[in-house]
Amino acid sequence: LSTENSLKLNGQVITQTLSHKNKEKETFEDLQESRKILPVYTVRSRLLEEIKKNNTMILIGETGSGKTTQVPQLIHELRLEGSGAIAITQPRRVAAITLALRVAAEMNTEIGSFVGYCVRFEDVTSARTKVKYLTDGMLLREAVADPLLKRYSFIILDEAHERTVNTDVLFGIVKLAQKERNDKKLLPLKIIIMSATMDVDLFKKYYDDCPVIYLEGRTHPVTIYHAKLKQDDYQYAVVCTIFQLHVSTPSNHDFLVFLTGQEEIETVMSNIKQVAKESSGPPIRVCPLYAGLPAAKQLQVWKKTPPGMRKIVLATNIAEASVTIPQIKCVIDTGMVKERTWCTATGAERLRVRACSQAASWQRAGRAGRTARGAAYRLYTAHDFASRHAHNTPEIVRCPLAATMLLLIATGLDPITFPLIDPPPPDSIQASLLLLKELGAIDNEANPKLTILGKKMTAFPIDPKYSKIILCAPEFNCLDEALSLVAVLSSENIFHMPIHKRDEALKVKQKFVSPLGDHVTLLNVFKAFCKAPLKKQWCKENYLNHKNLSYAYEIRQQLLNVCQRLNMTVTSCGTAMDQLLKCLLSGLFTNCAWARSGAAGSGGGKYVTASGSAASVHPASVLFSTRPPHPAILYTELLHTRRSYLVTVSAIQPQWLHQVAPDYARRCRANR
Ligand code: ADP
Ligand code: MG
Repeated sequence: LSTENSLKLNGQVITQTLSHKNKEKETFEDLQESRKILPVYTVRSRLLEEIKKNNTMILIGETGSGKTTQVPQLIHELRLEGSGAIAITQPRRVAAITLALRVAAEMNTEIGSFVGYCVRFEDVTSARTKVKYLTDGMLLREAVADPLLKRYSFIILDEAHERTVNTDVLFGIVKLAQKERNDKKLLPLKIIIMSATMDVDLFKKYYDDCPVIYLEGRTHPVTIYHAKLKQDDYQYAVVCTIFQLHVSTPSNHDFLVFLTGQEEIETVMSNIKQVAKESSGPPIRVCPLYAGLPAAKQLQVWKKTPPGMRKIVLATNIAEASVTIPQIKCVIDTGMVKERTWCTATGAERLRVRACSQAASWQRAGRAGRTARGAAYRLYTAHDFASRHAHNTPEIVRCPLAATMLLLIATGLDPITFPLIDPPPPDSIQASLLLLKELGAIDNEANPKLTILGKKMTAFPIDPKYSKIILCAPEFNCLDEALSLVAVLSSENIFHMPIHKRDEALKVKQKFVSPLGDHVTLLNVFKAFCKAPLKKQWCKENYLNHKNLSYAYEIRQQLLNVCQRLNMTVTSCGTAMDQLLKCLLSGLFTNCAWARSGAAGSGGGKYVTASGSAASVHPASVLFSTRPPHPAILYTELLHTRRSYLVTVSAIQPQWLHQVAPDYARRCRANR
């Protein structure tokens, strides 16, 4: 790695909206002062008039104008919510948590009392909670229990431009709930849709021509630079650009770098630390920010650095619009995003790292112009930018919908006729229903009803494939192991592989490794973690991520609670790991890959998935160097970067698929 000048930049100036003063806010008075300068606050009386007047409205304003933190407070201060509560949804848990903490501080109250949050596996609310930040997924789950969402008088669907599946479904759920509550003369429901810039006409039409309010933000120009040449390795280009700028920019300019995921962020972070040792320029503090990051670490991002020190935030697209980071003057944008897509023919999912939309690029650049003039460095050419899609495609048209369909059916809604703002392709709905049928969650696809198993599945806040694994586990005598494994898979990466100590970390990992593959290896780590008396110290010695393992531990507890409510008995399969793997396969049967004929000799470890794409075992897998390839493997994730990788894999017997998922095995064979 070197800091050679490999990027040629050219400048062209654009004006991007936004911003206002930002300083370290500590006291309650300080917080109140900083509230008062937010665009939302300055127009509050007009805004409240509109809110009083309209049952549904759309509020559009640049990131940082105070929509998410101020609107609920303004409503609450005037007690407009009456006897109900105010729900504010967020697509991501990090955002829900940090926003709730912020608002609790602004309202001078403890988190969990008036202001609370509810995210998967963590409910910090009480009967007194009036302002509740929650993920869109959690509100959707609440709708299953109460389709009219009666406890709320205001529902604010925030970050509407992100078009997550859950928010898209909620657009419909709240619309139906509002109408029915109105018809039944129940407590009226007010709906506010909030967003940064988005396709307003579509929403206006969907909500019967409701009013749209635009907030005016203060603006600072952002200079945009594009790479002159195409960059083959954006991770490398990021580090080069950071250090080029680092030595030439004043230290009070903080950097915000857009990357695609946790692993990538960790790699770049350790590369920065490595290069920083030999670089001139001010000292650096690197802060990661991604959805799975433990709350305590997230807060680092908002901590002010001492004078003379530069903060470099490495973030996923979470920093695009949902959360605001002060003091950023320089944005470095890889132009990439990790997206989930799937193959409707086989139900196999994949994660693809791909170019983001133009709208996302503008959002990212806008983060640099909050406090003063800023600059955004795009690591892709102007030509590349011009060829990209204008807006994000809604997740619902490209993602697996089994989990959503299951919730809709559980809510008593017809998944085929449910009025979505952008209907998914019919074959996607059909494929999801077929998958639910093969999982045993519904009885038929034409007029689906939940089976007993399907009903139980909805009790778990996880994907139906994973709840199936847990519910099947007693059959394989391995509920103890299945709970641990599903918990670990629901947390984030538990291995900590610092680049400069890689060899040592890999050596230590050996004591947990099972020749059966990554799943049993993960289980070995988790079991050892549970037994270790000094967990933090033990994790450090074993190159494991203490936070992510502790989180898995909590998730296991939550899942166990659900099992106990369902009267399931926890038993262990001891050393019979094939039982556990069969159990895994009964939920993840769409995630099989087979050794490609002819690949055995080439030594490339090449497999072919059910959807017919060739893929290699990920280098981080314990089965990476297995030769010859296993006849069949089960993988947790298929990742497309420049190549296709099978992530977290285990060896299985090809005939198991026929034993645990005969219908699917037959269909799959027909497809292949
Ligand atoms: P919007 O929803 O319009 O993007 P927000 O209500 O999220 O705006 O944020 C308004 C302002 O509140 C931000 O510009 C920022 O200054 C401040 N803010 C929000 N969250 C935090 C936080 N967690 N820590 C510090 N400041 C914050
Ligand atoms: Mg917001």
